[in-house]
Amino acid sequence: MDKLLFENSPEGRKAFEALGERVVQWISEYYASIESRPVRSQVEPGEIYQQFPDHFPEDPLSVDVVFKVIDEVIMPGITHWQHPNFHAFFPGNTSFPSIAAEMITAGIAAQCMLWESSPAAAELEQRCMEWYRELLSLPAHWQGAIQDTASTATLTALLTAREWKSGFRIAKRGFDNTVYRIYTSGQAHSSVEKAVRLAGFGTDNLISIPVDDDLSMMPAILEQTIANDISKGFVPTAVISTIGTTGTGAIDPVLAISAIASRYGLWHHVDAAYAGTVLMLEEFAHLRDGLDGADSFVFNPHKWGFVQFDCSAYYVRDPELLIRTMSITPSYLATVYGDRVHDYRDWGIPLGRRFRALKIWMTMQLLGTAAVKDRIRHHIALAADVETWIESHPVLEKAYPRSFNIVCFRIRADQDDDGARTRELCKQINDSGKAYMTHASIEGRSLIRWVTGQTYLQAFHIDSTKALVDSLLPSV
Ligand SMILES: *Cc1c(COP(=O)(O)O)cnc(C)c1O
Repeated sequence: MDKLLFENSPEGRKAFEALGERVVQWISEYYASIESRPVRSQVEPGEIYQQFPDHFPEDPLSVDVVFKVIDEVIMPGITHWQHPNFHAFFPGNTSFPSIAAEMITAGIAAQCMLWESSPAAAELEQRCMEWYRELLSLPAHWQGAIQDTASTATLTALLTAREWKSGFRIAKRGFDNTVYRIYTSGQAHSSVEKAVRLAGFGTDNLISIPVDDDLSMMPAILEQTIANDISKGFVPTAVISTIGTTGTGAIDPVLAISAIASRYGLWHHVDAAYAGTVLMLEEFAHLRDGLDGADSFVFNPHKWGFVQFDCSAYYVRDPELLIRTMSITPSYLATVYGDRVHDYRDWGIPLGRRFRALKIWMTMQLLGTAAVKDRIRHHIALAADVETWIESHPVLEKAYPRSFNIVCFRIRADQDDDGARTRELCKQINDSGKAYMTHASIEGRSLIRWVTGQTYLQAFHIDSTKALVDSLLPSV
């Protein structure tokens, strides 16, 4: 029967239905059993690779065999990002509506590069970007497009800044002797450095601005550095500020940075990849100060927004600059509707695009903004609970103030002068399979990041992880 899967016939669709029902059942059972699985995969390098044969099969295998391989070979090598005790990196959470939407997107399998290559995809994307803009209370004149990741969005921002600052000369003639300078804080995400490198500025021209005790960029030093660079004949081109750094969730002073950027003629890109989500909540309204002075902004629904990877919302103040940077129109791609519609291939790097708006739409239709906001508040409250626990703990201490749902902690300095015990504690947590956290070294000191953002996380999960940490402390 499996050969039928290559036929769009009544029999072929029957076989597909059976496969599809089995897939949905499998996913449901996965969520039922997820808490009994080790959060971080416990396999050794090469262990999965060597279990696979050297060739694709010439003849089809049975569905049973394929599921057996998924269960027995692939699943042990999966780190369970949707396990409630996944507290590592940042969450990459999802929700049942998002999963279902991805199935439909896969089923339709449309390439959504131009308006006419699927008008619904383009027009729903436009709507979704407007709805997020409203939900986050972003400046009303901004326009957005979905990118695959924040890394791509930041590269897109720097490419646009490069063309804007050079009068669109670099795209045509390449770099001349002008030295373009880019500024960010030492706490910025590594994607900023990567974008600087890829956009051709050279990492020598990425200037790291010092941070204060809260790890926020110091705007007075930014301004001095820019002035200094101008006096040397360099061209200050862009500044990247972060709302919610990856290390500790630090927040750069966006208002002050916007003012400096406009005074000296720099592009201001705001990286809110993770923490952009909290702009949905009125209690964080102060974080929007200065955003209307920014030129571009990114946040990832695919991190803490219940819309699964990949889905990054990129906004710009002036879409004309973006489109002029990205648009290349050979005759076979020219469309008669050009000016009246959005051809999103001109709003980013790739030509081909998935229909990602469907999962945003379906998730928000089936969950609603009230429940989404409640869940984010719930995650923040759980982090506050972790913070309180650490504050009164005899062996642990906070490494930095809690930011949103990010708690950075370590073994007290007087009991762990070189950070070795903190590192060992993190290793033992992760080796236990019961929780997964990330070790980081910030300002030269070890800490563990405990981020509470998995969709289905409850207070009892947090309590069991506290008990896990307590049980490991004597052995580190
Ligand atoms: C996660 C993160 C990124 C990178 O996000 P991708 O979508 O994986 O490229 C960039 N900046 C910050 C602040 C982040 O937290």
